[in-house]
Amino acid sequence: MFRLMKKILLIISTLALFGIFIFHNFASSSIENGVGQNTHNQIPTKEENMAKEIKETFLIEDGDTFAVLIEKFGLNYGDMLEIIDTASTTYDFTKIKAGKKFQVFFVGDVFRRFEYDIDTEEMVIVSKDSSWWSVERKDIPYEVTFAFATGVIESSLFMAGNDAGMQDRTILALADVFAWEIDFATVIQKGDSFSLIYEKRIRNEEEWPDGNILVATFSNQGKKYTAVRFVDQDGGVGYYAIDGTSLQKPFLKAPVKYSRITSGYSNARFHPVIGQTTAHLAIDYAAPIGTPILATGDGLVITASWNGGYGNFISIRHNNTWDTHYAHLSRYAVKVGDRVSQGDVIGYVGSTGWSTGPHVHYEMVKNGTKVNPLTVKLPAGDPIKDEWKDLFEAKKQEFLAFFAS
Ligand SMILES: [Zn+2]
Repeated sequence: MFRLMKKILLIISTLALFGIFIFHNFASSSIENGVGQNTHNQIPTKEENMAKEIKETFLIEDGDTFAVLIEKFGLNYGDMLEIIDTASTTYDFTKIKAGKKFQVFFVGDVFRRFEYDIDTEEMVIVSKDSSWWSVERKDIPYEVTFAFATGVIESSLFMAGNDAGMQDRTILALADVFAWEIDFATVIQKGDSFSLIYEKRIRNEEEWPDGNILVATFSNQGKKYTAVRFVDQDGGVGYYAIDGTSLQKPFLKAPVKYSRITSGYSNARFHPVIGQTTAHLAIDYAAPIGTPILATGDGLVITASWNGGYGNFISIRHNNTWDTHYAHLSRYAVKVGDRVSQGDVIGYVGSTGWSTGPHVHYEMVKNGTKVNPLTVKLPAGDPIKDEWKDLFEAKKQEFLAFFAS
């Protein structure tokens, strides 16, 4: 079923691409051959009218404001005010960013509409019909096919992913899928391997940022993990193991991605700054200054201030049992009282307080006692609900059948 779907999708997308290709060739050869005469005595059809729509691309340059662009589109200040007013609940055009583009459509010299990509998923369309403005926000229409990638790690996950033809965002997404199972900062070894099926997205004949990972496996030091993406009937999205248990645990394994441990959990170690032997009830992750530090779980920011040898310090209360601490930050991204979600950036790696180099000192506190983040047993997330088990099984079989083929 899945294979058939994939085939059909591939055929459709191939035809669509081919169609566009033919059209383009025809169009360019028409221009070359000077075709365009002999049409004056024909009544234009609606399609021909549509075809007269001309698209122009406007790149937002450094310093461009929305007002500047509006003028480039041939619109005036009054138009701009009406657009901002009509779009007020849909999109804030003061947020446009240099380097992004507006696609503007004209018929003759007359402005018809513009399209702007908000991010890789959504776009906003502003149209003018006589004097009426309308604003619409919608999903970017991609042609979606499925891609398969597999790799064996020689030096790093990034290198292996790139060798497998994966975009960086998909490599990061793969690490995210397994972030609760595997600490990519420390335990990845040469010979570890991965396979995945993900959404490849095409738009206007060009490759765009990839979509979701649908199913993935990762073999780490001989242990194989599998993740199946499942959208439940309430719209919840998650990655689950083969047995339907959630891959999402309450905590990430590490507060920084792609770092290395420079000091482990120990009851007695010599401290280079204070010159004494003390306990180090934490894990130190070395990473460059400015590397984002992530909240390892959902929670409430209890402290975000200087704390002696800890330097700039953040503590998060996750629930009645758990707290996490992050020390030696260069900067804060949150303040006391903020609610944070797992994976949110709370600050940046620094070397403040008693520190000999850029790193984050990470502590986990269970019921008021510091515990070793690398060895403590963490509870699993919620499994697939009973009512969705059949649906999950069907989805899983579909993906895995494809995977095995
Ligand atoms: Zn430390």
